[in-house]
Amino acid sequence: MSKILYKSAEEIELIRESALLVSRTHAEVAKVIGPGVTTIELDRLAETFIRDNGGIPTFLNYGGFPYSLCISLNDQVVHGFPGNYVLQEGDLVSVDCGATLNGFVGDSAYTFAIGEVSDTVKKLMRVTKECLDLGVAKAVVGMRIGDIGYAIQEHAEKNGFGVVKELVGHGVGVKLHEKPEVPNYGKRGAGIKLEEGMVIAIEPMINAGRAGVKFWDDGWTVSTVDKKPSAHYEHTVAIGKGKPDILSTFEYVENVLKEKHNN
Ligand code: MG
Ligand code: MG
Repeated sequence: MSKILYKSAEEIELIRESALLVSRTHAEVAKVIGPGVTTIELDRLAETFIRDNGGIPTFLNYGGFPYSLCISLNDQVVHGFPGNYVLQEGDLVSVDCGATLNGFVGDSAYTFAIGEVSDTVKKLMRVTKECLDLGVAKAVVGMRIGDIGYAIQEHAEKNGFGVVKELVGHGVGVKLHEKPEVPNYGKRGAGIKLEEGMVIAIEPMINAGRAGVKFWDDGWTVSTVDKKPSAHYEHTVAIGKGKPDILSTFEYVENVLKEKHNN
């Protein structure tokens, strides 16, 4: 069992740089994502953008993962492969990205709607993002891991959605996956105490239907058992005193989406 790797203030600033590179990569994806675009094109542009900015795509070759982005469509939950699939109106696309810069890792995911999506999908996206915000709000000194999971689970289930239990958030920063595990479910006041120097990835994976998932024979892709859509948002967060320090941001990606919407 590995231990929690506590980070100095200087190291947290370096992780912020990496997380902001990931956030800018999501904005680059946002510029081109839409009907008629293949998911492999998004992967290529993300890899090029990360490398052009001095980074390394963390996911590429991680445990043998063959791409720079995990792109998970509709009923796929996470870890989907980019490929020749042509995006079409109504698709729901989760894009997960990691970047290593100066030896430090940032990790963030964003779920995109392609054109007009169903009301259920709109609600799923909104509630999953709210789950992330509620979980992040608990990432403060003195709270416990279970407080994060409880906040996420309570909000998702109150809205009639299923919380994926087989995959969890994680410590991050020196490596992509560090201790502790950060489940999207839990009990208030349970689990390890959150302390200064901890950096975690909080990443609710929320299903429109049942919570159950299945693992594909490709060794990576995870999808819902009932074939209903799933959404995924993720931030890299440093545990703060009084308030969380969110190291990634959705500001860049959402500015691009707003601008596209207005044109
Ligand atoms: Mg991720
Ligand atoms: Mg992650």
